[in-house]
Amino acid sequence: MSIQSNQVKYESLVNIYQSLDATTKRLEKTDILANFFSNIGAELLPIVTIMALGRVFPVWSEEELGIGSKLLMKAIATVVGITPEDVEDQIRDQGDIGAASELLFKKKSQTTFFSKPLTIEMVYHNLRKVASVSGNRAQSRKIAIILELLSLASPDEAKYITRTVLEELRVGVGEGTIRDAISQAFNVDKNIIDRAHMLTNDLGLVARVAQEEGVEGLQKLSLKPGKPVKPMLAQLAEGIKASVDEMGRVFCETKYDGIRVQIHKKGSKIMIFTRRLENISNAVPDVIQYIENSLPDEDFIVEGEIIVTDNGKPISFQYILQRVRRKYDIEKAMEEVPLTLYLFDVLYYQKPLIDAPLEIRRETLESIVKLEENKIQLSKQVKTDRENIEEAEKLFKDSIDQGHEGIMIKDPTAPYIPGIRGKKMLKYKAEPETLDVVVVGGTYGKGKRAHFVGSYLLALSDEFGDLKTIAHAATGLDDQMLLELSERMEKLIVERKGQKIAVKPHIFLEVAYSEIVKSPEYESGYSLRFPVIKRIRDDLSLEDIDTVQRVNSMFKGH
Ligand code: AMP
Repeated sequence: MSIQSNQVKYESLVNIYQSLDATTKRLEKTDILANFFSNIGAELLPIVTIMALGRVFPVWSEEELGIGSKLLMKAIATVVGITPEDVEDQIRDQGDIGAASELLFKKKSQTTFFSKPLTIEMVYHNLRKVASVSGNRAQSRKIAIILELLSLASPDEAKYITRTVLEELRVGVGEGTIRDAISQAFNVDKNIIDRAHMLTNDLGLVARVAQEEGVEGLQKLSLKPGKPVKPMLAQLAEGIKASVDEMGRVFCETKYDGIRVQIHKKGSKIMIFTRRLENISNAVPDVIQYIENSLPDEDFIVEGEIIVTDNGKPISFQYILQRVRRKYDIEKAMEEVPLTLYLFDVLYYQKPLIDAPLEIRRETLESIVKLEENKIQLSKQVKTDRENIEEAEKLFKDSIDQGHEGIMIKDPTAPYIPGIRGKKMLKYKAEPETLDVVVVGGTYGKGKRAHFVGSYLLALSDEFGDLKTIAHAATGLDDQMLLELSERMEKLIVERKGQKIAVKPHIFLEVAYSEIVKSPEYESGYSLRFPVIKRIRDDLSLEDIDTVQRVNSMFKGH
């Protein structure tokens, strides 16, 4: 029998968190969640789906709780009746705010416990309310809401509420596990769930439709302006000739080296998302302006690459991150770091277009964009085939000469396939291959550099999404970048032993190397010779990093 009432105790979700915490096996986690989902009523299902990920808003939402650890420590201190410094000490001892809160709440004299049990709905709605508070005395009004929740919480509940507030649930559940659990709970093929998710990026909605309408309802879900779609990804081309031979007819385009953006217009609102689906609209008012000037007034979704240019010439990728991460002095940044947008696809215009072949989408795109020099352009394109390969080669050469990265080779008959790295869109670059990795640790330098993390421990993911180390990299960063990275590392430390630290996997790097070699020293079984950090990749997430399987096949290919 399913739990119909929306008065389900928060405690039952906490029990689920604890069971998830108790196993590292993905299949067991999937079972636990599937069982929970199939027993929960339709109203609560979307809520528990997102809360199982430790969030109250989807990643792409502009809304955020806006409560930092300092403020939360103050709230905990107030409820428990100690000083914020005591809370900080406890966090240091326990390693995280959740465990520290649990302990402190246990010590607290039992007063209000269980007088009015928390429900899942209450926790969810109150946390959402926190995000909506703005203006006068916002901080103290936010804290008042958190205080109310914490004052009703048991120690176990406090552990997970505090972790949720800081978006660090740590129960080892990612979107993939949630998708598997929905598929299992409602007996729907995993591919159907995956596609519905790629299109809507709303797992709560997917779960609810799976439960209430099954396959038929899921197949009707489509993309909607305002909700970002997981971008279609490219595979590496073996060579220009091999790729054109295989596709027959191709669209080749310059590959611009910036950040990919998906631009949505819904009503009068223009939203810009990165490939990680972060909403960066506020950081790039100039791009919003280009769109307003050059695209129609109707709803649409288009995709392109934003690059930094100096008189039309592309300049270093690194500058673009300064632009999109910027929260203040945006006007000044706009002048110093001008952006050009190269559009290359349209996913929605008057209706969803993702199932239309690329050639139709490109035609549509060409018909709706008004070009403006140095501001908004279409990706440079040549249409060619097996008989005219030299045209593709010429585009490659011209693109490199103009300072771009290489070319994309696309199948003009292919639909837009969200979230998949397939064979219908290939990339061919001039530079030697690099790997996208995540930093999991580091070592402080010596002498003058004792305050900097000088060497970074890098990891890839394996087929289960677990991180496996592959190399230490110490070169490639200039002093300013070293300083910036060191500061970011400080905030991510989870363990410290002498000069060595372990950090949360939040910093992504692109590394070049001379060779992949077998090595028992690292968990992946491989190591990199002469790794050089090429750039910080804040546009990536854990799902994007390279895998041990890829390194394995690259190693075998040598
Ligand atoms: P990947 O991110 O590994 O799939 O490599 C492809 C990336 O190249 C896309 O995500 C875009 O950010 C970028 N890109 C640059 N120019 C183009 C283009 N003309 N068409 C498609 N992608 C492009």
